[in-house]
Amino acid sequence: MKRTNIFVLEDCSALWELADGCVRLYNEINFERRHAYIYYKRFKWYPKRLYEKYAPLIGSATAQQIINKNNEAWRSFLALKRLEKKGKLPKHITKISMPRYWKKNGKRKLRMIIRNDCYKIDDKYIYLPRGLKLKYKGMLKWKGKQGRLEIIYDEVDEVWRGFMTVEVEKPSLKGGNKPLYIDLGVINLATVWFEGLKQPIAFSGRKVLADWWYWTRKIAKEQSRLARVNRAKTSRRLRRLYRIRQRRFRHAVNAMIKTIVEDAYQLGSSKIVLGKLKNMRSKSRYNSKANVMINNFWSFDYMVRRLKEKAEEYGIEVEEKSEYKTSNKCLLCGSEDVIRRGRLFKCLSCGLEANRDAVGVINIGRLHGGGVNGVVAHPLLLRWNGMKWEPRRAMNNQSMNALEARISRL
Ligand SMILES: [Zn+2]
Repeated sequence: MKRTNIFVLEDCSALWELADGCVRLYNEINFERRHAYIYYKRFKWYPKRLYEKYAPLIGSATAQQIINKNNEAWRSFLALKRLEKKGKLPKHITKISMPRYWKKNGKRKLRMIIRNDCYKIDDKYIYLPRGLKLKYKGMLKWKGKQGRLEIIYDEVDEVWRGFMTVEVEKPSLKGGNKPLYIDLGVINLATVWFEGLKQPIAFSGRKVLADWWYWTRKIAKEQSRLARVNRAKTSRRLRRLYRIRQRRFRHAVNAMIKTIVEDAYQLGSSKIVLGKLKNMRSKSRYNSKANVMINNFWSFDYMVRRLKEKAEEYGIEVEEKSEYKTSNKCLLCGSEDVIRRGRLFKCLSCGLEANRDAVGVINIGRLHGGGVNGVVAHPLLLRWNGMKWEPRRAMNNQSMNALEARISRL
């Protein structure tokens, strides 16, 4: 499986020159191809003239990498065009456009691609073509066969960032037959249960949502300030705010996913069963704020993707199951004569009162053949404190100290 090591490189004028050459080559190839495609519907895959123009500037291996990158973009464009012709495009794709230029906000997007055998890296330096030796910051998380290296200038943080692909061996499955069940949501980001656990565990989304709204308000303020003062649509500050909001959200989600997957691994689960989120976006299952978040904020796609990636690292398979009606059925008597209000679930047949997300995740387990006898349908709530996920009633250091002080006074 492919993984990416990410690190920050020290700045150096040679990087700017090299990246500038790469971007110019990419954009020139792209310009020629767009032109040729529009007028003749065909073009040459090997742009000899441009290769010969740029190879002396950026090196022949790098020039070839840039050409390959543009080829990839055109191949996927042409493949989509062929599907469109046959009327077989996936539903979510409505518009296909020709590969774009490496450009952002009217400026060149500086980047370069180094072939896997054209660079070396040790625990302090990276050695690039033309004798360039640069320090880097960051841990190389993944070890394995080194793939191509992309170096991209991040204009928000004003740093050069390296993305090094690594081919990592897939860990062998540990075995174990009890799956871990997950129901994703907004009020509770995830509710988790596995057979044998007396109480599901829920990761409360309240703090994360509140934080997301805090930054959303800041973004809105900056947007109106820009419109009023500069009549502009974007600024570096605005891009920073977007990024902070995203990073804070992702931090909480990644910490949650790490906890879940490590638990599954500890339990010897070889499978995670995920309540399927189909049509989540169109449901008005949550309050309006939460709906805005779902619609604006691809958060579910991100959570599912990260969960799959993390699980793969541990050799655990993720299976998506239909979540249809899982929180409509009573856990005890199977009746569908139930009331759901907010997070509350009540069965009118047997009187069971429970938490709705807990009912959801336990029902996913039951549909999958898990034994649900004696399970408490109220989750243990974990809350995000900005650093880690903690049980609701866990004492913080301060109250611990206060308690110890009281005891010592006795
Ligand atoms: Zn019931």
